[in-house]
Amino acid sequence: MASSSKSTARKSTARTPVRSARGRTLAQELSEVLDVVRLHAASFPSRTERTRISLTLDSGSRLELEFSGPSDVGYSPETNEHVCLGYDVQLEAPGKSINDLDLGASAKAAAQNLLDQFPDHLKFTSGRRSIASQASAMAPNVVKNRKWIQQTYKDTPQRAGLQKWVDDHPAATTVSAIAAGLESVMNTWTQDQQRNFSRHISGDAFDVQPVGGDTGKKIKEAIGKLPKLHWHTFEEGGLEIWHAQFNP
Ligand SMILES: [Zn+2]
Repeated sequence: MASSSKSTARKSTARTPVRSARGRTLAQELSEVLDVVRLHAASFPSRTERTRISLTLDSGSRLELEFSGPSDVGYSPETNEHVCLGYDVQLEAPGKSINDLDLGASAKAAAQNLLDQFPDHLKFTSGRRSIASQASAMAPNVVKNRKWIQQTYKDTPQRAGLQKWVDDHPAATTVSAIAAGLESVMNTWTQDQQRNFSRHISGDAFDVQPVGGDTGKKIKEAIGKLPKLHWHTFEEGGLEIWHAQFNP
C-alpha cells in the first residue's frame, strides 16, 4: 500500500502538484512541517542518528522526512540509564530550592556548584523521587503499553522484575493497580538496586529546566564538568530533558 501511494504521488507531481484536502500543495504542507521543525529544534535530539517522520496527506499522498547528522554530544552507552518522564517533570513546579531536592551529598554539591555559576537562569525541576512517585510516574505508560518498561529501561534485573510483575498480572489495567504493583516490587530492592534503576530514587540525580541560547549552551557545558558526574543527558525519548546523575 505504501509503495503504491508513493508512486502515485511521484507520478502526479510531474504534472500537477499534489494537493491535500485543504487545497494546499505538497510543497506548502512540507514548508509548514519544516517551520515546525525549525521552531522546535530542541525537540529533535542531537544525539539521535536518524529521526524519521512519515506523514499521510488527506489526498492519500505520503511524505517522509528523515533527520540525520553528526552528533554534537558524546555518545553514551547508557542511553536507557534514566527515564525522567516528561509529563512528570512538567507536573513538578520549576524553581525548587536545593534543599527541596533532598539530594545526597555529591548531587547536592553539584547542584550548588551549578547554581553558583548560573544564579539567574538555573531552575531545578526534579531531585530525589520516592518509590511511590516513581511507580506513579511509570504506571500511565504501562497502561498504554504493557511492554513499556522492557522497551524503555536498560537491561537490569530490576527491569526484569518490574516487567515480570506486569506480565504476571494481566488483570491489573488501571494506573492505581499498576502503580501499587510496581511499588511493591521496588520496595523489595536494596538501595544499590534502587540506584541502579533510577538515581532519582537514591537522591543522586537532578533535572534542570532547559534554557535556550548562549546561556543554555554554557549551562550544558558546565553540567558536563560537574564533580562526581556519573552520566548526563539533555534528551530523552524525543523530549528535551536536562538530567545529571552522580556517584554517591
Ligand atoms: Zn532526571
